[in-house]
Amino acid sequence: MLAGHIGVGLAIGRWERRVNVAVFVAAALLLDVMLWLFILLGWESVRIPADFLTTHQPEFVFPYSHSLLAALFWSVAAGLVVRFVYPRARAGWLILVAVFSHWLLDALVHRAELPLAGGATPQVGLALWGHMPVALVIEAVIVLVGLFAFVRGSKLARGRAIGLVALNLGILALTAVGMTVAPAPPSALAMAASSLLTLAVVCGALAWLGKTEV
Ligand SMILES: [Zn+2]
Repeated sequence: MLAGHIGVGLAIGRWERRVNVAVFVAAALLLDVMLWLFILLGWESVRIPADFLTTHQPEFVFPYSHSLLAALFWSVAAGLVVRFVYPRARAGWLILVAVFSHWLLDALVHRAELPLAGGATPQVGLALWGHMPVALVIEAVIVLVGLFAFVRGSKLARGRAIGLVALNLGILALTAVGMTVAPAPPSALAMAASSLLTLAVVCGALAWLGKTEV
């Protein structure tokens, strides 16, 4: 899930327009940034299972980025950092919510592989990706609601607003392709590197598109 997390970030960004919306989107994606970094560092792992072409779901061992405990830690840490950078209490709280929203959405779609605290603790996940059409419809709704919530009432120039909508619909389409017909990634490291690059490009593009004149 990439598009859905971005949709939540957009919706949350609507509540603090003095901060570039890309900050909230990056917060909503933070746990995945950690995940791919930790995979490159060898601290977490991803495996492409034999049935990948039918499920399109890699198997993760990700206690430091995606356990409930880790998600709470990263949410509070990011909220504190942003509160320091933007001395406005609301931005800090919104960032905390944005980071933690990632875990909630992942717990909805992943199979029961998100540990509560790591190691041998129970793993949770409602496995909505086992019903992919339903999962993709829900993700599309999140993106559309997020776009509507953010663009409506924003001070974006018309061209940037159109670009923002087009970019997000494109990411939604790519997410749908990735979860249905895309080929298996060549390796875990290639998957991690390309995913990190994608996240950086998406956040950079959103930072530019999300700039307001005031
Ligand atoms: Zn995730």
